[in-house]
Parts: sequence; C-alpha cells; structure tokens
Amino acid sequence: MGKQVLVSNRLPILPVRTKDGWGFTAAAGGLIAALSGVRDEVEFDWMGWAGLDVAPSEHDDLTRVFRERHRCHPVFLEQDQIDRFYNGFCNSVLWPLFHYSPGRVDFSLPHWNEYRRVNEMFADVVLSVCSEDDTVWVHDFHLFLLPQLLRAARPGLRIGFFLHIPFPSSEIYRLLPVRRELLTGILGSDLIGFQTPDYGRHFAASCLRVLGLACGVTEISYDGRQISYGSYPIGINPELFRRTLRSAAVAGHRERLAQSYAGRKVIVGVDRIDYTKGLVLKFEAYENYLEKHPEARGRDVLLQVAVPSRTLVPEYRRLKAEVDRIVGRINGRFGTSDYAPIQYLAHSTSFEELCALYERADVCLVTSVRDGMNLVALEYTACQRERHGVLVLSEFCGASSSLGSAIAVNPWDRTGVADAIHQALTMPPDERRRRAAANHEYVTAFNSTAWVRRFLRDLRAGRAAESDVAPDLRDRYFELRNAYRAASERLFLLDYDGTVVSFTEDPARAEPPAKLFAAIGTLAAHAANAVCFISGREPSELDRWFGDLPVALAAEHGMFFRDIASREWVQREDPPLDWMATVRGILEDYHARTPGSRVEQKRTCIVWHYRGTEEGFGERQSLELATHLEETLANVPVTVLQGDKVIEVRPQSINKGKLVADVLARRGSEPPFVLCVGDDRTDEDMFTALSGSAWTCRVGKRVTHARFYLPAPALVLDVLADLASLRE
Ligand code: UDP
Repeated sequence: MGKQVLVSNRLPILPVRTKDGWGFTAAAGGLIAALSGVRDEVEFDWMGWAGLDVAPSEHDDLTRVFRERHRCHPVFLEQDQIDRFYNGFCNSVLWPLFHYSPGRVDFSLPHWNEYRRVNEMFADVVLSVCSEDDTVWVHDFHLFLLPQLLRAARPGLRIGFFLHIPFPSSEIYRLLPVRRELLTGILGSDLIGFQTPDYGRHFAASCLRVLGLACGVTEISYDGRQISYGSYPIGINPELFRRTLRSAAVAGHRERLAQSYAGRKVIVGVDRIDYTKGLVLKFEAYENYLEKHPEARGRDVLLQVAVPSRTLVPEYRRLKAEVDRIVGRINGRFGTSDYAPIQYLAHSTSFEELCALYERADVCLVTSVRDGMNLVALEYTACQRERHGVLVLSEFCGASSSLGSAIAVNPWDRTGVADAIHQALTMPPDERRRRAAANHEYVTAFNSTAWVRRFLRDLRAGRAAESDVAPDLRDRYFELRNAYRAASERLFLLDYDGTVVSFTEDPARAEPPAKLFAAIGTLAAHAANAVCFISGREPSELDRWFGDLPVALAAEHGMFFRDIASREWVQREDPPLDWMATVRGILEDYHARTPGSRVEQKRTCIVWHYRGTEEGFGERQSLELATHLEETLANVPVTVLQGDKVIEVRPQSINKGKLVADVLARRGSEPPFVLCVGDDRTDEDMFTALSGSAWTCRVGKRVTHARFYLPAPALVLDVLADLASLRE
C-alpha cells in the first residue's frame, strides 16, 4: 500500500527563524486537533502553505527541514498571493456564500485567477511527492480545484475530499459565477465527505442543477468514474480535554475561576469574531433574558471569549466594532460598579484556561447562524462529564445533527434563546445528568480517531478509478470470434438508438443502415442464432423496420414484446399510469417555454425532446426540468431518465433487465454465447441480468457493469457484420 498524504491550507506546524536555522511551533485549528490523536497510528505526509513569506533562496533549505523533521511539504506563497487567494477569494467569496451570506460576497476575477493558480501550486507539490498508488486526502474550501488537477495528472491516485464548512442549498450555490469549475474540481475525488447528510444532499442537488448529473443517494457518476459521497461528522479528541483537566496548569485557572465566580451562574461562549457565529444575536438574546428575569441581574455572567479573526477583511473589522458597541451598551444598562453582565475577552486563551472555563460554566451558549460543525459544542460536552452543564445549541450548526440532547434554538428568535437560557439554568439535576451523559457518550464514541479511520476506510474501500471503465472489446476480438464459433446456441441482445445507429437531429429518421439489415438478416437466418432488439422506441416503429425479419422485438424498454415465432405484440405489465397527466402538464409547460422542444407521448412513458432548441437555453431548461421532476416525483414509482437531449419519465417497474431475465427463462437457460450491447443507463439493467461469461458491451467509455466497451455504433456494426460473415 502507498503512502497517505494529507493536504490542507495550513500545515500543523509553523516555522520560526532561530539563530541556528529553523525551529517550529505547533499551529492551532480543528483539523490539526482532530488528527493529533491519530498521528501515532496513521502516518501522514502533510502538505500545506508554509505559513510565512520566505525568500525563494531559502525555499530548498526550509523544504528539506520540514520534510526531514516533520514529514511536511510546504507550498510557498507570497504575501500578495495570500491576500488575493485567502482573503480575496476564500474569505470574501466562498466563506460568505457557503454560510448563506450572498450579500457579503465580493467576487473579482483577479482573486479567482489567484485561487486557480494557488490550487495548481498545491497540485505541483502533491505530484512531486506522490506516486500512483498513494492515497491523498484533501481538506476544505481552499482547495476545491485540487482533486481534479490531481486526477488529470495521475488518474490512478485515490483521492478523498472533506469539506469542513456547510455546503449550501443549491439555490444559494448557483449564485457563484464559477459554480461549474468548483463542482468539477471536487468531482475529481473518489470520496467526498461532508459534516452532515444535509450538506451532502445540497451538493448532490447542485450537481444536478448545475451540471445535470443525476445523483444516487451515495454515488455520482461523472467522467467515467463512480464517486461516493456521504456524511462524516468530524469529532474531537475528548481524552486530550480530560487529561488536560487533570493537569496542574488547569488547577491554577480552576482556583481563580472558583474565586472570581463564587455564587454566580456562568454562561460561556467561545467564538471567533465572525458574522456566522451570531454574536450580536447572542448578546441581544442575553439582554432579553436579563430584561425578563430581574433575579438574574447581578448574579449571572455571560463570559464570552471572542477570538479576533481575519482582521484584514473589512467586513470583520466592522463586525468587531459593532460587537464592542453592543457589549458596552448592555454592560452600561445592567452593570454596576462591581458587576458586568457580559465579560468579554477579545483575545484568544490558552488551551488550559479554555478547558477550565468549559469545566466551570453552567451553560454553554452557541448561536451560530451557520456553522459547518462547531467544535466548541463538542469540547464543552467533553469537559462536562462530572458537572453536567447544559448546552444551548443553534440548530444551524452541524453539531446539532449529532448532539440530540442539547437544547436546540433558532438564534434569530431572541425570545426563544432567552427562554432556553432560563430553561438551562433552572433545569432539574436529573434532566441535566441525562442530557449531559447522552451528549458525552456521542462525543466519546465519535471522536476524531473514529472520524479519520472511517473516512480512510471508505476511501480505500472505494473501487479503483481505473477499474470502473471496462476494457476495449476490440482487444479481445479474437476470443469473441472463437467463442461465437464454438457455441451451439447464440443469443444477441441489442439496444437500438446510440448502439447500432448514431443519434440524429430527428429520431424518426434514425433508420437502420443497409449494413445492419444485411448483418442481422444473415445472423438471424442461422438456426443456432436468436436476435432480439430491446429499445425504448414504440412497437410501431420497430415493426416498421424489423417486422419482416425473424427477430424478437422489445419496445418501450421491455413494456411490449413480440416473439420471433408468434410475431404478436404483448403488453408484459400493467403499471399504474396515474402520474402521467401531472407529468404531461409539466412537460407541456416546458415545451411552451422552450421553442424547438417537443413532447412525445408513448403508451406507458412520456418524453421531452430538446435537440432542436437554442444551444444553451435547452440545456438550462433541461437541468431545471430534471430537478423539478426529481423533486416532484420523489415518492412516485417512476424513473426520470436523462438521455441524449431527452428527458424521459417511465414506470419504475419496467426495465430491460427484467425483459432479459424473461427471455432467458423462456429458453430455459443462458446460451453459451450471448452478445449484449447497449449505450445508456437503461442498458445497464441488461448487463447485470446476465452471467459473468456473457459478452456485455457498452458503447462509449463510461462507468459500466458491462465487461467491455466500444467507442461508437459504427464499430458495433463492424462486429455484427464480421460475425455474420463467418460460415459456422
Ligand atoms: N479556540 C482556540 N483558541 C481560543 C478559543 C478557541 O484555539 O482562544 C479553538 C476552540 O477550542 C475550537 C476552535 O477554536 O477548537 C473553534 O472551532 P469551531 O468549530 O467552534 O469554530 P471555527 O472557528 O472553526 O469556525
């Protein structure tokens, strides 16, 4: 097995110049903390920004020291590059948009170009270190383009991507000017992880809406590969908190806090100064609480650690000023000479002091308006095993999907939050114990080690990218010929459009070429052979073309069947069609608004064709229609199929696989030679209905269950003509 490589914007250590060369200090951050517990058992090479603007003449030396001492591989960025990439794009476009603040987005082309350039620089460093059998785990929104850059250069790499922040609803996501580029960038991965199932669903919906990719519940087919996605909520290292709480360093802080807050109720808040954290809402809710509960004034304290953040972005400087003003106002209103209702620490604290604070607080108040996870909620829980403090947690945090025993609040509802503070501070001990224990159990079980293990296990378990694409049938052609010759009975199962004929502007004119007639005529005349066309077309069309040949025909994906012997069409199933009128109404509406499109009503299915529409507009309408249908018909037993310039809705119960199973059952068994060829998703059901020895072949190089592929219909015709020319 190859190495494991982790790529994040920052490295876990920061270089510092010393008089003898380079030294290092530990860097902080959720990812670094999450991985601290696992570095003993899983070895990583780590790539990220060097953390300093270093002169090019020093790059080689620092790279060597990083690598030899820490298995780290720095990416060197100049200060103005950081400004454009990190402040200009990551923090001024992606962060606000992904946290539902489109009004704060400040998109500029130079910043986007820098983002692309920096992703390319990361790719260069990764590629210089990685070989084809390595596993690369890319982290977060700074590196959305990296998976695809790596995939293009090393197709066999196993690539995972984890997004630490929320993935917004597709309605928000599609506002992004570079929405296609980012999605295709991420889709270079084999496995994509999100903090909650909701974020995963939003991602899949964006893939459908922006790229037209119909996604499964856990998988997406893209560019000939099968990509998995899922929810992998990040955990913390609870043992680190418990160990620290037992340390001498914490004892001093504990003593000081016990004295300062004797007889008081303490509510703790720990947030970066960021508009996503809902700090203004938090203070206003607390003010509301003090208004409603005079007994709390002079007794209760909101101890807010507010860590300055991104101070180079103007938006953050404005927020800091606003927060300062509100704290001043509330303290002026309810404070006295020896009491400040809000104690505001506008700087970061040491880890030991933070642990002591978590432990002392009776309540932890988290009011984020959007937060990928919120580690503070998990950390507070880890420090409350004995004291059973209560967590009041915004439902807009990822943590809210996991910590079910917190009091969930809507931070926009200030009265509701005020009531929750009161409920938390007056909660009976039994209920506090029960809630704290349930949350604690979660934090302990789903810790950071479990998180890393689970993600890497699923990443390694995924099928290798290359093996998803079948080999070319032409490379095994002699074997195919020999198998044909040797077989006493042979069966041909052939799709029509896109398989033996190419798509045309007008489907009615996709007539069988003479070469096909000649080949099929000869093959079908042979006593050992049986030929069956299995198409999505209507019975009348198949009759018109093949009615006079001794072949079996299946129309509308197997709904209708005409046997070789009887030559009578029979309807094989009678599925409910009560959805048809609704769907017809939707398709007619799109038809009316999309000149050049048309609706085709078949007996059991209905199709919207947009081949003749204005380039671009038809595509856009089709994406919208597909999304509309997927959502409207989620609980209806129909399948929405996106084909080549068509969207088709048909009953779920009908599929070509069932028809193939029927054909085999009629014959008694699968003949020794079967050649089954198809070109789209509906044909996959045929491939899986056959045994592993059948010659299954998909037209077009795609992810498939077929054993082989051929590039185009013309080559399928060549194969059929060649087999027909054999005398046997
Ligand atoms: N934290 C810190 N120094 C402080 C206060 C907090 O390093 O002075 C840590 C805290 O322990 C937590 C992280 O910062 O691990 C905040 O993570 P969270 O997910 O709550 O929010 P983010 O800042 O990542 O949006």
